[in-house]
Amino acid sequence: MHPKQEKTLVIIKPDGIQRTLIGEIITRYERTGLKLMGLKMVIANEDRVEKHYTIDPEWVRKVGEKSIVSYDNKGIEPPSRDPEELGGHVLRRLKKYITSGPVIAMIWEGNQAVGIVRKITGGTEPLTSDVGTVRGDFTIDSYEIADTDDRPIRNLIHASGTLDEAKKEIALWFKKEEIFDYRLVQEQILYDVNMDGKPE
Ligand code: GDP
Ligand code: MG
Repeated sequence: MHPKQEKTLVIIKPDGIQRTLIGEIITRYERTGLKLMGLKMVIANEDRVEKHYTIDPEWVRKVGEKSIVSYDNKGIEPPSRDPEELGGHVLRRLKKYITSGPVIAMIWEGNQAVGIVRKITGGTEPLTSDVGTVRGDFTIDSYEIADTDDRPIRNLIHASGTLDEAKKEIALWFKKEEIFDYRLVQEQILYDVNMDGKPE
């Protein structure tokens, strides 16, 4: 596989749809030069959401650890110090959240697609996501208020965390015939060895 063929999965979560940010979010990824290879609106069931978040068997523990670190950094006591317990709560809440309405699933392709998309998406907690990222610019949620109200952080988007996760997630959300391979004219400028932009 040539590096320009790296693919990643993005899901606009139900809050992104309800906030009418579909166009804005797609624009952010599209204008980087990444290529849209597949796009659909679906209502997911809980089984798919569970499969999605447990593709990495370590995810439940990792998500719990991430949350504890975030609480500690703010000097707030987390609701539990057991990462598995905290992660388990997050998964239960996520099932309810992601199935609560339609979502938009997309595949974006291009050099370093996974990393580029994560950078544009921003960190998990909108309170600390960088300015200029989708999560940093368009929402205001925090671990603290989400945990208090027993819901997941509403951060508009899911984006694959690693190349391996991306491959498995794409297979979970898309059939082969829903993925379109085609050439964009701008790829000549992004990747071709000779740009050939001179007038004759
Ligand atoms: P992401 O890759 O940045 O989306 O983050 P993770 O894979 O770690 O977590 C998946 C999703 O679970 C996040 O996008 C949030 O919606 C939610 N979430 C993660 N950690 C927590 C938490 O500690 N508390 C709550 N309430 N929600 C969380
Ligand atoms: Mg993740």
